[in-house]
Amino acid sequence: MPELPEVETVRRQLAQEIVGEVVSLIEVRREGCFVGNPDRARTERITKVFRRGKYLFIVFQSGRGLTVHLKMTGRLVIEKDWYETALHTRVVMRMVSGRSLYFWDTRAFGYVKEEEEIEKAQEKVRARLGPEPGELTEIEFLRKLQKTGRKVKDALLDQTVLAGVGNIYANDALHLAQILPTRKANTITLGECRKLLLAIREVLKRGLETNGASDNSYLDAYGEKGGYQNEFRVYGKTKGECPVCGLKLIYGKVGGRGTWWCTTCQG
Ligand SMILES: [Zn+2]
Repeated sequence: MPELPEVETVRRQLAQEIVGEVVSLIEVRREGCFVGNPDRARTERITKVFRRGKYLFIVFQSGRGLTVHLKMTGRLVIEKDWYETALHTRVVMRMVSGRSLYFWDTRAFGYVKEEEEIEKAQEKVRARLGPEPGELTEIEFLRKLQKTGRKVKDALLDQTVLAGVGNIYANDALHLAQILPTRKANTITLGECRKLLLAIREVLKRGLETNGASDNSYLDAYGEKGGYQNEFRVYGKTKGECPVCGLKLIYGKVGGRGTWWCTTCQG
């Protein structure tokens, strides 16, 4: 599932590619993947591309716009012929310049939503989500963790606690911070909290530097793979070894999600 680094990679690339373009037509190939009236986007000029958590906002000059969520398997790809006829291309945005932006999604949980007021849509999402990991202090983070007896990994995946962190980066950050994923969030000390926040920022930064993790379906806006899957610390490493001590990693489910950890380093 695309997380903050993947969605931010797509945002940066789209900001380069589609700002200044004028929409000529939106083609909806699967009902449910587009919310609203696609005809209202005609003749709109794109002025900005924003991101909040895992949400993207394509801003039109008129104040209208589109909210996009890639969910599990969504991609936004600019100008790649293969997507023109691909089975899982759900929405196509045609531009006056002749270019096209494809929303492709095998599972079809993702969506493009037409917004009458994109600024308001953005504010609504912002109000619903917690801060991003770069926006809060360790004390603020500690207060959030102290409020819940849930497992710390569950708390990290809760977008109302922190926005943008998903399963990949939560697994790797907990390993880097040497904290057991099953620890109760309200037993985390200030020192551990500081370490954890720094670890989250570090893995997200590395994810962004490598254009995200393409272990599964994710590709960037140019249809290219990211590189973070080559740097996973523990994520996805069933029967793998701890990159620090070399012992076998443990695999289990925490909050229904695949979780990998080292009992020695994260004990
Ligand atoms: Zn270890």
